[in-house]
Amino acid sequence: MPIIESALDARDAHTDFTLPAGEPWLHDLKRGETLRIVDLEGNQAVDTLFYSAATVEERYSASDTIRAQGNLYLTTGSRLLSNEGNVMLQIVADTCGRHDTLGGACSAESNTVRYALEKRHMHSCRDNFLLALARADCGLGKRDLSSNINFFMNVPVTPGGQLSFADGISAAGRYVEMRAQMDVIVLISNCPQLNNPCNAYNPTPVRLMVWDVPGAPGSLTPNS
Ligand SMILES: [Zn+2]
Repeated sequence: MPIIESALDARDAHTDFTLPAGEPWLHDLKRGETLRIVDLEGNQAVDTLFYSAATVEERYSASDTIRAQGNLYLTTGSRLLSNEGNVMLQIVADTCGRHDTLGGACSAESNTVRYALEKRHMHSCRDNFLLALARADCGLGKRDLSSNINFFMNVPVTPGGQLSFADGISAAGRYVEMRAQMDVIVLISNCPQLNNPCNAYNPTPVRLMVWDVPGAPGSLTPNS
C-alpha cells in the first residue's frame, strides 16, 4: 500500500487537539486548510462525515466517491466527493495506506445485531454523531447521517464480495491528511466500540491537527 508522508511541520499547526477515545468532534474547516488525523496508539477507527458549510444539504457521498475513483478504499489522491459531485476534500498524505468506505458507523442497532442483545446500551458512533450535532444546535440531526468514512479501519472485501471486519492495518503514529476544497463541517466520532477486532477491542485517543491555507497571512507553511 502506498505510504505518502506529509511535508507539513507539526509546530505550524494552528489547531492541535487530542480527542479522547469514544468522544465526538465537530469542527469548521476552511477551504485550503489541511486536517491531519493521527492514530496515536494504532488501529483506532475514526468515523467521519463532511458537510458543506455553505449548504449543509451538500455532504460527503460514499457512492459518488467510490464510483468516481473506481476503488472502494481511500488513500493519498482520493477525492472525497459530495452528493452533488463536487470535490469536498482531497487526501494529500497517508501513512496508513487504506481507509474504509463501506463499514458504516456502529449504533445501538448494529451492536445488537452483530454482537448481542445486551450490547444495545453501549455507547456508539451514531450516538456520538447525534450528540455532537445536538450540542452544536446547527440544524443537523438524524436524517443527515449518511454513510461515513472509517479512517484507519480495515474492512477488506472478499473475492466473493463480502465485507470482513478484520484486524487493523494501522499502527501507532500513522496518520491521514486531507485538504479542504470547500468550507466544510467535519463531524468525527472517535469510535467507542468495545466489541470489534478492528480496534483490538480497545478504543484509544486520536490527535487532530489543522494547518492554515498555504500562503495565507500568518501561515508558516510553504505551498505543498
Ligand atoms: Zn463506532
